[in-house]
Amino acid sequence: MLFGMFRKTDPICGMKEEKGKGIHKDGNWFCNQTCIEEFEKTKRKTAKHGGCCCH
Ligand SMILES: [Zn+2]
Repeated sequence: MLFGMFRKTDPICGMKEEKGKGIHKDGNWFCNQTCIEEFEKTKRKTAKHGGCCCH
């Protein structure tokens, strides 16, 4: 059987999804709450940056 083929990776720390561990959020998998907060921070920063006209 091909279980494990669709494992996700934590976009912040690169950890591989582990069954029964971590948190699923917005289609991503995070190993813990800290990585979610980091991801949200990055997302917010990127969005802000995109609208900046002074570069
Ligand atoms: Zn992580």
